[in-house]
Formats: sequence, C-alpha cells, structure tokens
Amino acid sequence: MSLVNLLDYDQPKLAQFFVELGEKPFRAKQLMRWMHHFGVTDFEQMTDIARPLREKLAAVAEIRPPEIKVEQISDDGTRKWLVDVGPNNGVETVFIPEDDRGTLCVSSQVGCALECTFCSTGRQGFNRNLQVSEIIGQLWRANQSLRQVDGYDMLPRSERIISNVVMMGMGEPLANFDNVVTALNIMLDDSAYGLSRRRVTVSTSGLVPAMDRLRDACPVALAVSLHAPNDALRDEIVPINKKYPLAELMAACIRYLEKAPRDFVTFEYVMLDGVNDTVEHAKQLLQTVKSVPCKFNLIPFNPFPNSGYATSRPDNIRRFRDVLMQAGYVVTTRKTRGDDIDAACGQLAGKVEDKTRRTHKFTLKAVA
Ligand code: SAH
Ligand code: SF4
Repeated sequence: MSLVNLLDYDQPKLAQFFVELGEKPFRAKQLMRWMHHFGVTDFEQMTDIARPLREKLAAVAEIRPPEIKVEQISDDGTRKWLVDVGPNNGVETVFIPEDDRGTLCVSSQVGCALECTFCSTGRQGFNRNLQVSEIIGQLWRANQSLRQVDGYDMLPRSERIISNVVMMGMGEPLANFDNVVTALNIMLDDSAYGLSRRRVTVSTSGLVPAMDRLRDACPVALAVSLHAPNDALRDEIVPINKKYPLAELMAACIRYLEKAPRDFVTFEYVMLDGVNDTVEHAKQLLQTVKSVPCKFNLIPFNPFPNSGYATSRPDNIRRFRDVLMQAGYVVTTRKTRGDDIDAACGQLAGKVEDKTRRTHKFTLKAVA
C-alpha cells in the first residue's frame, strides 16, 4: 500500500484523515504545526503525540516534501531552487530579499498551456499540474534553507524571513485551481505559515471564471497580467484573451475586489520594445482600466534565447510610466533581481543542464 503524503492536506482535509483513522480531528492542528511550523518530517519527533499513534501514522502516511536538485544564491541575495518534479523535469522557486520583506515566488505547474508569446514557460508547453505537496513543498524547502537564525521558529511572524508569497513562478495558478487553493489555505493557516491574505498574491493571465471561484474560495491579493491595452494586441501576445477579452476581464476584476483583502488589483505589464510600450499604448491603457481601482507594475522584458522580443528602452519605460503617474496611478517598475542566476520573471525554464554550466557566475550548491 502506498503511503499518503500529509503535505497534500490542508487542516480540514487532515482532520478528515484523522477521523477516518478513528482518531480525534484536533490532531490535525498538532500535525500542521509539526510539519509546517517546525519543519519536522519524522513522526518520532512529534513528542506531544503518543507512541501508538505515531506508529499508526508511520504505517499509513509520510511527510515528503519534493527534493531540491540545485540551490543557487545570487550576489544580491536572491536564491533560486530547482525543485525535482520527476525525470527531466524541474520547476523553480525564487526567494527575493528586500529591506522590509522577503518574497517567495512559487510555481504552480510544470510548463504552461497558455502560450503567452513573450514567456519562456509558455514556450515550453504544458506538462502537468503540481500536487499540493509540490506547491507548499516549495515554501517548506525555502524555509528549511533560510532557517539559519537560532530560534527562528520562535520569532514573531513579522520577523520571519519569508513574509510574502507570490504565485508568479512557472505556470498559471488558476489553471490548477483546487491544488493551488489547498496550498493557499496552508499558507494562511495560523498553525502552518500564518501569512496574511494581503501578503499572498495570485497572479493570473485572466481566467475569468476561475477568478470568480477564487474570490469565493480564498480571496487573496490579485495580480493580473495585462500586457496590452487593447484586444487586438492582447489576442496576439496573451492568447487567452480571445476567450476572455478585456471588457470581461475588467468586470471580473471589479467583482473580485468586492472580497479582496486589498482595495486594488495590480496590473502587470511587460515592456516589449516597439510592441506595447508607446505613449499611445499608455493612454489607451488608462481608458481600458478606468473602472478598476488598480496599481501598475511595469516589468522590463527579461530576454531568453530566440524570444523574438527585446526589452523596452529605459526612456520609453519612463515615458510610459509618466503617462500613468500623471493620471494619478501608483506605478512601480520592477527591478530585475537575481540576473546572474536567471531568476527573473519569465526566465524560469527549469532546464537543469543550462543552469549548471554557469557555475562561474554564482555560488552553486548541489544539495540533492
Ligand atoms: N501565469 C501567471 C503567473 C506566472 S508569470 C501569469 O501569467 O500571470 C508571472 C509574471 O511574469 C506574469 O505577469 C508574466 O506575464 C510575466 N512574464 C512572463 N514572461 C516574462 C518575461 N520574459 N519577462 C518579463 N515578464 C515575464
Ligand atoms: Fe503561462 Fe503566465 Fe507564461 Fe502566460 S505568462 S504562458 S499564463 S506562465
């Protein structure tokens, strides 16, 4: 009989598991703390659980996070892990330290089916959805690696190293809906990672029905990958737009905000030289989003081989930004982090060989 991996369960599912074992449901809370709060995988170390139950658990269950193939540490402190998700496959997780927060960028799928033209994950095609244990396992592993401070587990949450999670790694999180929502529940659970809804962000290319479902199931902060101000251009570079065009997407954003933990949506906009980055595009964008309370995050395009695109020139990004700012919007231009380890947005392709050859550029530590 194969063992069930308890990292696949959020607290309600774990409680159900205990009931089916003939045990009390409150055990779920204890288990969540051991697994996620303290990072324990061995039932024998769970000292507040009596030996017979520990043995019973070990007979039917395991706590198995995904393995790490490679850990890379950039000169600027950014870390990237290549997570083992089966033969010849990897997904990537990136940790970005900043003065006031530490953000973990988590993947949701191996590849992506949505084929945005400027995205290297999209160019790979779709392989499969990640399991809950593989999604939450990225947070589990990152915590394990970053847990260098003595007494780290006792620190107040505000001082924990990972304070924010963004579902902006490989894949479209809302296309792996159930597993992503279960993983979000674990991130928010006080017995596990205890992150606030405001500090967990789902980024979507605009799967409208799933945005409505997320609003009801687990409203966290929302980022929407807009990238174009009109349907003709968006149809071309974000093909899911043909199914859910801009008017529907804007309406879904407004519905989402009724329950969101923040009172704005973040629109992500990748800056592609000569494609979507003129002052005219910026003005059109203002019209498109005018009914949605929002902020903008401009992302200079991160090149990858044979992409066919180039990064917008800095003065064009500045002009574009100024149009939005003059209209009263908050606009951030994303800094590229972890450039030396290909950790930037859209560079997460998960090919082991490519990355390991570049050992001269970064500190490379094989941990698997
Ligand atoms: N599938 C989701 C989340 C993952 S991508 C989504 O599309 O929103 C996270 C962000 O990186 C998205 O806004 C995506 O469009 C952007 N991105 C993809 N490829 C990029 C590239 N090469 N350069 C810059 N940003 C990119
Ligand atoms: Fe998929 Fe997002 Fe890349 Fe589009 S940008 S292909 S939705 S991962």
